[in-house]
Amino acid sequence: MNRRKIVAGNWKMNTSLSDGKALAADLASANKADDVEVIICTPFTHLATISQVIADSPKLALGAQNIHQEAKGAFTGEISADMLLSVGAEYVIIGHSERRAYFGEDNALLAAKTDASIAAGLKPIFCCGEPLEIREAGTHVDLVTTQLNEGLFHLSEEDIQKVVIAYEPVWAIGTGVTASPEQAQDMHAAIRKMVDEKYGKAIADQMVILYGGSVKPKNANELFTQPDVDGGLVGGASLKADDFAAIINSY
Ligand code: PEP
Repeated sequence: MNRRKIVAGNWKMNTSLSDGKALAADLASANKADDVEVIICTPFTHLATISQVIADSPKLALGAQNIHQEAKGAFTGEISADMLLSVGAEYVIIGHSERRAYFGEDNALLAAKTDASIAAGLKPIFCCGEPLEIREAGTHVDLVTTQLNEGLFHLSEEDIQKVVIAYEPVWAIGTGVTASPEQAQDMHAAIRKMVDEKYGKAIADQMVILYGGSVKPKNANELFTQPDVDGGLVGGASLKADDFAAIINSY
């Protein structure tokens, strides 16, 4: 199956602007493959500047880490999809587990954010994944089914094709514990089946599904070569240019 390959870096709330510029400059020529798309999701404050830093790097795209669901108005401190587009973002992470856990973002809100993103022309990287207790209870597929049904699967056939899905088991994020290649493959196959049942095989076959959770240079290849794993969403290791470059070039 010839699907797009994507490696996305989530910088979270890290780097000063000057550190971020230096990191982006180091990454500008890091992607050695013609068939891998790299996205860096920087803090809001860095987007406009970093879009200039990577302007001559067609294999490197820019993303944000969150949006507000409304297009504009009296929402002090919030950032809209149009604002992100205006500073060069092409993608936005929606529903990261840290936003679900620390900012109370539920599936209904994430559905609204997904709609706002698509309405503006910003491509969502929609995150799903289970916490440890759900994995231990064996109900992780059920939980991810609910996350996708309630947050994403209201989209039309046309719009779902603008989305990248990221499966990120919460117990593997920032913990150094990585899902085994088999655990990742099993869940990715289950997600692809969910997409198939809702939208049909042609759309499911093309759906890009990223794995996230302690991806490092040493484990990226065995994860990315699983048949239903199309790449990664990388947190900690995306802050080190050498590590992120090694992950990008590990297919
Ligand atoms: C993430 O924040 O999306 C993530 C996967 O983090 P880490 O790679 O540090 O586990």
